[in-house]
This record gives sequence, structure tokens and C-alpha cells, in this order.
Amino acid sequence: MIRYLAVLAWIGISFGTAARAGCMNLPVKGNVNGRDTSITVMIEYKGAVRHFSVRTAPLKYNKDFAWSFALDDGLASGWLVAFPYFNGGRVAPSFKGAWGADQGGDGEVYPGLFFTDGCGNKVPFRAAVAINARSIGRPGSLDWEQVDSLYKAGWDVFSHGYTHATGRDVDALSECRENNKVVQERLGIVMRQFVVPGGPGDTISEGPYTKAAFGQGMEAVHDGHFPGHTIMIDRDLSPERMRAGRLFLYSGNMRDSMDRYFREIRDLLQAGKRPWINAFTHSTGNDNLWNISLRFPDMKRFFGRLEKEYGHTGKDNIWVASFQAVQEYSLIHQSLVYSVRKAGNRIYIRIDTGTLPVELRHKCQTFVLDSGQPIEKITCVNGSIESYSRNTVGKQLINLCW
Ligand SMILES: [Zn+2]
Repeated sequence: MIRYLAVLAWIGISFGTAARAGCMNLPVKGNVNGRDTSITVMIEYKGAVRHFSVRTAPLKYNKDFAWSFALDDGLASGWLVAFPYFNGGRVAPSFKGAWGADQGGDGEVYPGLFFTDGCGNKVPFRAAVAINARSIGRPGSLDWEQVDSLYKAGWDVFSHGYTHATGRDVDALSECRENNKVVQERLGIVMRQFVVPGGPGDTISEGPYTKAAFGQGMEAVHDGHFPGHTIMIDRDLSPERMRAGRLFLYSGNMRDSMDRYFREIRDLLQAGKRPWINAFTHSTGNDNLWNISLRFPDMKRFFGRLEKEYGHTGKDNIWVASFQAVQEYSLIHQSLVYSVRKAGNRIYIRIDTGTLPVELRHKCQTFVLDSGQPIEKITCVNGSIESYSRNTVGKQLINLCW
């Protein structure tokens, strides 16, 4: 009876994405099979709240565009060079390992590359590694501890097939299954994104891999043959079972292409679009490994410019996160059911996560409020507040995770 009354009390304003999910007039239930799936955020102000609005941001931290980056083939430079450069730390010095190529960097300490969370806190660029479990621990490849450390630092781990097999006789089903099984057994990581192995010359195995990966519950399949490396974050976006095209960043085309890539971003933003770019490379050491990699000096030029123009010291309107993080944010954004209630000097947002897929890793959403006065205090039940706008009037952000 008490629960019934509580639900009734929540019938009230229900809007935003809830309307798109077809739940305009339904109360937020917050209970699935006896499991409490509700989150309540209480926002407290000094004075009584008169006019206010609440909506969820199309991209985390209410950014204008998203940039996703992956390093294929599980190579050691992902941990030794790319990670310290993005996250802050000492990049490995030059070394020649497997394949006779220099896979180190310059041995210098880097401050990291950042944007902000819209509330004054710096957030490092994050990316993903796409791995073949059979190669992990071999010379030139990442080892298990490094994969684990990347994951724990917020990077994502994508599947790239167990052995990187390609061609006509590929056993896509077992390549997908075995890779997921071994990675889950070793690290407890459930991979949700599949990157089709094979270069631009291989179109044979892409079909079987796509079918196998989606059949085994993957949320996205990445392949350079899929059209478009730029996705628009708008009402037409379908964030379920995505076929993701890719922008290939490698040193062979950087000199000619870098300006064009930046121009594309600028033009789309100027046109009022909200693009999401999906890019990748292989290794990022001093040598251009197999001529399909981004040499460390080129990586610095490209990502340093991305930070300078759009990161915390520039426009601060970029969200650099793995494809999985952006896709899962979009999935939640499109189907989140929530209601909003005002009581005196408080606003309550009540969210029901029971309608969302349960296997998401990145469970978060940014709320944009406008209430005409600074937020005094926020408390949250069943979730955590990553950050929120303090001492600001007008547009205010609440970055919620659960
Ligand atoms: Zn590959």
C-alpha cells in the first residue's frame, strides 16, 4: 500500500526523453521483479523554485560532439604510449621489440589531454583497444595486466576475434565466442563491441563476422567497409546493434588529411550538427608499424590539436570517449524514463532504469537544468553524482551515474 501511494505521488510532470519512449503519462515504476530500479535525485535551492526546466543532454557533459578512438590488434604501444599520453604520465622511451619496429615513444612525461565535465573538473581523453585474446602476452602485444589496467582506467576493450582470422574459410562463430570466453575468464570483462579483422582488401569475412557478433549479443560491429565514420547525434540515430564505419588515422595520410578532418568537424559544428566521429589506428610507436599505424609524433600533432581547439583550453565542447561509452549513453538517452516533481525549494528527479538493457557498462546521463538560482545541495538515492554545476545561475548540469 505504501509503495502504491508512493507511485501515485510521483504522477505529475513527465517529459523529455520519456515522451519519446512513449511513456508520457505513465508514472515511473522503479521496480522490476521485486528489484528496486529507481534512482531519485533531490536538488535543493536556497529559495522556493518558481520556474524551472529539466532535460537530458544528447551527449555526456552536454558536449557538442563526440570523438571515439580505438587501437586495433591489441598492441603494446596502446598501454606504453597512447595511454600515458592521453591520461598523463611517462610515455615509454624508444625500443625495438617484435617485428623490428620501434614501438616506444620519447620517454617524456606528458600532462594528459583533457576536456571538462562542464562543472569545472578535467576529464582525460579515453579510448579503446580491440584485442585478439590468443596474442595477448606475446612480444609486441599487450599483456593481460595491461589490458586490465586500461579497462580499470575507463578505457574499453573490444573484441577483434580470437586469432584475427580473415578470408573465405573463417569460422566467425568460434572466433567471436572464443575471444569473449577467454577475456571474460581471464579478466571478467564482457566485451560488447566487435571490430571485424582484416583490412580494406577483405570483404569476404565481414558478413559472417557481423552476423556472428550480433548473434552473440554484441551492441556494435565496426568495419571500415560500413558507410560513414561520422554519425549524427539526432532524432534519427538508432543506437541499437550499430554497424559502425571507421576513420582510419595512420601516418601515411596524416600530412594530406589532417586539415580536412578538422575542417569537417568545424563545418558540421557551424551547421548546427552534433557529429560523432569513429576513428582508429593500430600501433602508435615511433615507427609506422606495418604502414598502418599512427607514429607517435603524428599522434601528438593530431590529438594535441584536438585538445587545443576543442578540449579544456579551447572551446571545451568535445567528448572523447570510446564508441561503447557514446553508444551506451545514446541508448540510455533515447529510452530513459523519468519524472520531475517540485516541492518548495526542492526539485526531485525520479528515474526508472528498469526499462534499460541490463548489460551496459557506462550507466550515466547528464541532466540540464534551468532554475534561475544556484544549486545549494544535491543528494541521490541508488545512484551517484559524478559532478554538478555549483554557484552558477542559468543552465546547470548534473552528471549522474549508477
Ligand atoms: Zn586488425
